Amino acid sequence: MFKVLFTVAMVYGVWFVFKHWNRITAAHKVVMDEKRREAADQAARAPRTPVAQDLVPCPKCGSYIAAGSPCSCEKA
Ligand SMILES: [Zn+2]
Repeated sequence: MFKVLFTVAMVYGVWFVFKHWNRITAAHKVVMDEKRREAADQAARAPRTPVAQDLVPCPKCGSYIAAGSPCSCEKA
């Protein structure tokens, strides 16, 4: 008797998965998107590595300034 019930349950389970496969994959996709978004949020919140900037000595005063930016001695 149990065998028959088990077989019926298995067939019903396979049929159920087959029938709702699209919904199952859609739900799975939603969960995976949520996880990916959380991971992205965490990555955005994590401290970023500082961007390296080349410093060049000012030809006039000799103080080191970022390359391409005007020295403060030229403004004065
Ligand atoms: Zn200067």
